[in-house]
Amino acid sequence: MSDLHIYNSLSRKKEKFEPLHPPFLGLYVCGPTVYNDVHLGNVRTFTSFDMIYRYLVYCGYQVRYVRNITDAGHLTNERGEGVNRMESQAKLESLEPMEVVQKYTVGFHDVCKLFNMLPPTIEPTATGHIIEQIDMAQKLIENGFAYAINGSVYFDVRAYNEQHKYGILSGRNIDELMEGYRDLDGQEEKRNAIDFALWKKASPAHIMKWKSPWGEGFPGWHLECSAMSTKYLGQQFDIHGGGMDLKFPHHECEIAQNVGVCNHQPVRYWMHGNMLNFNGQKMSKSLGNSILPIELVTGNHPLLDKAYSPMTVRFLFMQSHYSSELDINIKGLQDAEKGLRKLLNAVKYLTALNQDTIAIDEKTEKDIIELCSACKESMDDDFNTAKLIAALYELATHINVFYNEGKQANKISEATRTLLQQTFATYVFDVLGLKEESAAADNTVLDKVMQLVIDIRKQSRENKDWATSDKIRDTLKDAGIVIKDSKDETSYEIS
Ligand code: AMP
Ligand code: ZN
Repeated sequence: MSDLHIYNSLSRKKEKFEPLHPPFLGLYVCGPTVYNDVHLGNVRTFTSFDMIYRYLVYCGYQVRYVRNITDAGHLTNERGEGVNRMESQAKLESLEPMEVVQKYTVGFHDVCKLFNMLPPTIEPTATGHIIEQIDMAQKLIENGFAYAINGSVYFDVRAYNEQHKYGILSGRNIDELMEGYRDLDGQEEKRNAIDFALWKKASPAHIMKWKSPWGEGFPGWHLECSAMSTKYLGQQFDIHGGGMDLKFPHHECEIAQNVGVCNHQPVRYWMHGNMLNFNGQKMSKSLGNSILPIELVTGNHPLLDKAYSPMTVRFLFMQSHYSSELDINIKGLQDAEKGLRKLLNAVKYLTALNQDTIAIDEKTEKDIIELCSACKESMDDDFNTAKLIAALYELATHINVFYNEGKQANKISEATRTLLQQTFATYVFDVLGLKEESAAADNTVLDKVMQLVIDIRKQSRENKDWATSDKIRDTLKDAGIVIKDSKDETSYEIS
């Protein structure tokens, strides 16, 4: 189907992609914890996996794309301590915890639409899969990898490590980890400080709690993804993704839970998207350096010089490889705005080209065919969108030349023009997931152009160049734009 190679975070190698059950393919991506607004860092990770999903579909796979919603309100501390995020946010906003969940799930979906992400084929919630999680915790107890104590259940990392190796994904070693937790040893109900919660006993004040064989409680964060991926994709599936910061402990714990139940690795290819940084630091809510999508599209943020469109940001993300760190700054946004325009204009020019082949220019013909192949080769090379965009830019330069030479693609054969049209539009729209934006966004461009025209007209009037100023007014009138002169200013209106 394709010659796709994927960097596998587990083997730490680029491997040829061999799906388990072609043409079917299982893709699981850890979704958001819906207790607050997603920021641009989160958007980068979800956009990266949207692009990966799009390309897998383009390659002809029938992808079951599962992206969960974490709504069960796990605790702020991964070891199973701290406050319940949903409940503390609910208090802050005077809402029910499930109202918090609803509010931020709807907000997340709006953001996904804004950035032109395709919906997953299944979007399961943690609270909708409590039974599956209890079931998994019970199997882990039966298999000797978990224990119940005081109404809670913990994963026994030492017991697991004796039969399987804990830490294979993150490359961490259990002794070093134990050393890190040394101060906590003996202070908790857990056998070892390194053990993590599968189920936590709820205090009487706790709101989000469920009945279980161990009393009322709620599941640990890592368990939901193991339970939901197994339910919808099976005990072994093709690709599991998420942001780099989930590698440890979340994905490491997922592996241990799945192996603890079925005795084999659950995932063929582990993929991790890298972080979006701001001033060299990971963008995160807790560091207070995050930008929200709404701040971006309104320009209402101290970092921003103006509003930037969602597609500009999507394009900025696509300009770097999903596994590279990316720093967001104004220069990058401005360049992305220009780059996006260049590609979208080329799509428009491409549809306006006429075909009247006079004499084929062998070099141009060969160059275009090779660049079209380079698009696929780049994506097959671990979804290298940076290389893809470089090839698209070169194709856009050819398209511009044709357009400027009388809208004629007469140096290439009809077959090559068709190949160029199909390849260009497919990669820009279907694979990179870019689109032309709304009239509102176009109006900002029109505003700028019109200001320029008005300035030129003013200059010509000051120079008493009436011929030019009349020509501007009349030509605009023909185009349905009326110039309005008042005492203080000149404006325009679309008639
Ligand atoms: P969370 O809701 O915090 O679990 O995050 C949702 C997704 O966003 C996870 O896959 C995280 O790894 C990812 N993420 C969080 N911060 C960033 C960031 N600064 N850059 C890229 N991805 C991020
Ligand atoms: Zn997860």
